[in-house]
Amino acid sequence: MHYFSLNKQSPPVSFREATIVGQAPDKGLYFPGSIPAVDINLIRNIESYSNEKIGFEVLRPYVGNTIPDEQLHNIISETVNFPIPLIPIHENVASLELFHGNTLAFKDVGARFMSRCLGYFVRDYDKKVTVLVATSGDTGSAVADGFYNVAGIDVIILYPSGKVSSVQEKQLTTHGNNITALEVKGTFDDCQQMVKNAFADEVLHKKLTLTSANSINVARWLPQQLFYYFAYKQVKDKSKDIVIAVPSGNFGNICAGLLAKCAGLPIKHFIAACNANDTVPVYMQTGKYHAKKAVATLSNAMDVGDPSNFIRIQQLFNHSLPSLKEHLQATTINDEATKECILSVYHQYHYLLDPHGAVGYLSLQQYLQGHPGINGIFLETAHPVKFFDVVEPLIGKQVELPSSLKEIMNKSKQTTIISNQYEELRSFILSRS
Ligand SMILES: *Cc1c(COP(=O)(O)O)cnc(C)c1O
Repeated sequence: MHYFSLNKQSPPVSFREATIVGQAPDKGLYFPGSIPAVDINLIRNIESYSNEKIGFEVLRPYVGNTIPDEQLHNIISETVNFPIPLIPIHENVASLELFHGNTLAFKDVGARFMSRCLGYFVRDYDKKVTVLVATSGDTGSAVADGFYNVAGIDVIILYPSGKVSSVQEKQLTTHGNNITALEVKGTFDDCQQMVKNAFADEVLHKKLTLTSANSINVARWLPQQLFYYFAYKQVKDKSKDIVIAVPSGNFGNICAGLLAKCAGLPIKHFIAACNANDTVPVYMQTGKYHAKKAVATLSNAMDVGDPSNFIRIQQLFNHSLPSLKEHLQATTINDEATKECILSVYHQYHYLLDPHGAVGYLSLQQYLQGHPGINGIFLETAHPVKFFDVVEPLIGKQVELPSSLKEIMNKSKQTTIISNQYEELRSFILSRS
């Protein structure tokens, strides 16, 4: 399997190189050269396959010969080492819970897979590889957890001081060892700019191997396909159509679902569930794509005004809006409706949604009104406790912390405080190499 740049100005590369460099030299996103059809036996007999086996069958062709079978098996079993249950909420609606990993959000799967692939690829490098990442919260915690103790790789995470939740800060700053947290006196945009400067810095590049772990990396994107296979495996009545609503921000997760559909997974339709950041819903209505500045909402991991993976979705359907519409529709849900939804689902069905899952649930409900009698599934992308500041005042009750989180909350944070000037980041990195 080779990967080509969607900007078409850089040569094709292997899975190995695409994982190491992240983005193509021409700044395009990498895209697989072909979409391998999934084995029909896997679809027919999916209930008899373990999650590890499904992962291996689906991802093997994308990895090609860059990782031997045995290692790939190990990587996949470490990637899907937690339950991903499909929980029925009421007639025709079920929640695929993606929050049972270490950091309680779905990004754990992508971060774990990428960290282990990268660890394998750099195993015989004589220089240490440094992963540099800026975060506004969830990405950093998944990356910190995924790369923790992976040999040969150092991770430096920049986060804006005082602007992440207390749970997120603990998840970022309590690992130690190969994970270093830099607490930046500035905003998330400052952090991102500092990381960009570092990638453009020739001197740094000569001294050490720098790489990024952001969400456009193919090794973070592709394993998200597995969620949709695991959902299909757990659907009881497979004779009825399946529709899946995906809370979407950068559109990486839903793009992985559409890729699985193109490969032959029998999902009838996808719904991109967006908050007030409605760039894609507007595009689906009008055919005009206008990037916007992101606005802050309760489902903050989806506050994206120019979703970077949408170009991959367009590529999947040859940039044809009519053919995209056969597979996908997009909705926008505001904060008021999100809150009402959390409250009413909690009281009616005793199920506690997080704000992202609520956007998914409500988008699915709107679709079901015109399409009764199908299997409706929404992805619950984060544990509600991660957003206790939104959820607790609504339901008037405290949400119990899972035991893994209680442990982290008792650890003390370890950070180095720096200003938002690039020079300071640069001397910090150089002083360690
Ligand atoms: C990142 C994230 C999303 C959005 O996923 P994309 O792949 O960027 O569309 C949704 N919900 C949660 C909780 C997230 O952390």
